[in-house]
Amino acid sequence: MTKGRYARQDKMIKEKRHDVYKSKEKWREPTLCKGCGALFVNGRWTWKETSEETHQATCPACRRIADRFPAGTIEIRGEFFAAHREEVVNLINNVEKQQKADRPLERIMEISNGKGKTLVTTTGVHLARRIGEALSRSYKGDFSFQYGDGEKTLRVYWER
Ligand SMILES: [Zn+2]
Repeated sequence: MTKGRYARQDKMIKEKRHDVYKSKEKWREPTLCKGCGALFVNGRWTWKETSEETHQATCPACRRIADRFPAGTIEIRGEFFAAHREEVVNLINNVEKQQKADRPLERIMEISNGKGKTLVTTTGVHLARRIGEALSRSYKGDFSFQYGDGEKTLRVYWER
């Protein structure tokens, strides 16, 4: 069952920091990210290539990775994951691959083990939600999610 709960957290510090990661910022065109090679052209970040001379910048996704400041977090718990870790991680990586092809700013940052849970962090909320949906669709289990900061962050929970 898909269930969304909306929460509002108005934290000044977070709001301030978010400005740094705005994907709709006005970049000069074309701008190339030195970190990942994404190209800002026609109003969005793409994987296009250009022979034109480019401006240089660090894209919002690379900034989040450098700052270790994720937009999305997926919390995974339960025995099923422990027993099928490799398969589930493959699924997660495939979702990233699909999403990233069209949306260069949606990437996995880290997959790490916490106390009784595994955390997957992402540079975008869209990818975090897609991963949650894919886990739920493929393996059932309990799936829920919660937006924060006016939908700029997302926490996804999946347990089986
Ligand atoms: Zn980049």
